[in-house]
Amino acid sequence: MSEALRILQQVFGYSAFREPQEEIIQRVASGKDALVVMPTGGGKSMCYQLPALLRDGTAVVISPLIALMQDQVDALAQLGVEARFLNSSLSPQQAFEVEQSFASGQLDLLYIAPERLVQQRTLDMLHSVTPALFAIDEAHCVAQWGHDFRSDYLQLNLLHEQFPTVPRIALTATADERTRREIVLRLQLEDAKQFICGFDRPNIQYRITNKQNEKRQLLSFLRNEHSDDCGIVYCLSRKKVESIADWLSGEGFNALPYHAGMSAEKRQRNQQRFLREEAVIIVATIAFGMGVDKPNVRFVAHLDLPKSIEAYYQETGRAGRDGEPATAWMAYGLQDVIKLRQMMEDSQGNEEFKRIEQHRLNAMLGLCEITSCRRHALLQYFDENSPERCGNCDACINPIETWDGTEAAQKALSCVYRSGQRFGVTHVIDILRGGDTDKIRQWGHDKLSTYGIGKDLDANQWRSVFRQLVARSYLEVDFDAFGALKLSDKCRSILRGEETIFMRKDNKEALRKKPRTQKARSHHGDLSESDHRLWDALKETRTRLAETQGVPPYVIFHDATLMEMMEYRPLSPSAFLQLNGVGDAKLEKYGSEFLEVIQSFQDPSSGLGHGYGENVSL
Ligand code: ADP
Ligand code: ZN
Repeated sequence: MSEALRILQQVFGYSAFREPQEEIIQRVASGKDALVVMPTGGGKSMCYQLPALLRDGTAVVISPLIALMQDQVDALAQLGVEARFLNSSLSPQQAFEVEQSFASGQLDLLYIAPERLVQQRTLDMLHSVTPALFAIDEAHCVAQWGHDFRSDYLQLNLLHEQFPTVPRIALTATADERTRREIVLRLQLEDAKQFICGFDRPNIQYRITNKQNEKRQLLSFLRNEHSDDCGIVYCLSRKKVESIADWLSGEGFNALPYHAGMSAEKRQRNQQRFLREEAVIIVATIAFGMGVDKPNVRFVAHLDLPKSIEAYYQETGRAGRDGEPATAWMAYGLQDVIKLRQMMEDSQGNEEFKRIEQHRLNAMLGLCEITSCRRHALLQYFDENSPERCGNCDACINPIETWDGTEAAQKALSCVYRSGQRFGVTHVIDILRGGDTDKIRQWGHDKLSTYGIGKDLDANQWRSVFRQLVARSYLEVDFDAFGALKLSDKCRSILRGEETIFMRKDNKEALRKKPRTQKARSHHGDLSESDHRLWDALKETRTRLAETQGVPPYVIFHDATLMEMMEYRPLSPSAFLQLNGVGDAKLEKYGSEFLEVIQSFQDPSSGLGHGYGENVSL
């Protein structure tokens, strides 16, 4: 067995490496450079934490996410690994102590904020005792045109210049070809071997549903599938964030708001509760998320449409970092399209900028309206090949039917045209359905040739038709005229009968039918009464241990490890050590407490139970 594998098992408690961790670790441990592009949750930290233990000296990790350093250091402490951090949150005295421990060679890892690293004082410290390696986390921050650019990262070429013999590993989850080139150039990583892993997050189930009554839909999603879970609900506006958080609280959920209009303390408090407590839902604008590294976010729900696939992928990517099943769920409707198109129309910025934004939005709309596999489309957007069907998105689970919507489209478009391209969708649908409203009488629209020609479809079906026509740019929305629908050039061929258009059948059942998706896949799915109680007891034990130490529960054990306790019911320390996520240090610290809980749930006939259940093996 290699030394690396031995450490993986004994210290981290994992049985095997994931692809391509081992090769990366061997490379860095042998003193060479690496550039690692791996999706969120892929296991990047292991790629520098393990070499840190293999090599002499302290590994220095440069990370811009100051808020996370404490948690990372806490998590390593649980494994018996000596780690500290240096950033602006420390007092001069505390910083001095950290510097002392570094100088005396006590540390396995030292996390440093980039602005701190480039100070002469820090560099002097690093020159006094040569580091084991440099890990540059979030390496895409060096890209000047990227969205997370940090000017301090530009100075990180000094690592190579001042410490030419120290191996470096740069890591990121987001790097297209161009960003990768920039990382290599700026950090002088010409000799680094590149490890580019796919973008796919197979444990995330992608679902986009047709918005009818968003609150009711969200509620049934939460109640059916995530009643006890942590998750994020994204909304577009601060006002909506507040109202949805209030409403969810009223429905019995532990829901907290988060948006840029709140005071810094309140935001910090809510974020902290999200990290520390079980089953907290954060309702947030896109202000929430950067640097939130909680592994057991079980769902990300969107009540409003993100502006681009990039944003959607980043936001949904916060779910399921621990590799366990998670859901990315979104309710989307015609109003979303109209609202976002309007926001872009109104946005500052030149025409070129607006054109790019529109282009991105159209790609996002394409993803919403697609009838084939969502994951395949997502990955294709990022230029990655994947199977045609993933089996874990709404389109794969419940294949979406299509219908020939050419005639309906013709009716819809000509009705917009005949009524003068001055009215919104509700009125146009009223005309098509032969409605008897004041507005119709007032405008004499009951005299139009298109009046009542669309009685074959109900109002919801018509909304679906209009949504698809707008999303696919056959219709435009005129914001100077209060959202009136207008024909675009593109629709001519449909009106002339030269183009056939297939539309998706929106799944009306989505609301009522209990989805045969996550629930069946998740570990909670088929639990008996007594299983549920064991699960709760394990979680309570974890929470209690976490609280006494002031760390998040997942720092004690991940959900996955608790689930293995449920599955294997270990009764001895050696059996406990077999669980994924249990290494020597955690066995020693927590083994007896969790073993006791598991024992108490043994079949009473074995003489071990003490009154937890009437009949344990139901
Ligand atoms: P990233 O930084 O790439 O988002 P992390 O380094 O946080 O991902 O790892 C994600 C999760 O996977 C962590 O909980 C980590 O402990 C776990 N992990 C990493 N490597 C392995 C492995 N070889 N076996 C099992 N779990 C692993
Ligand atoms: Zn799929």
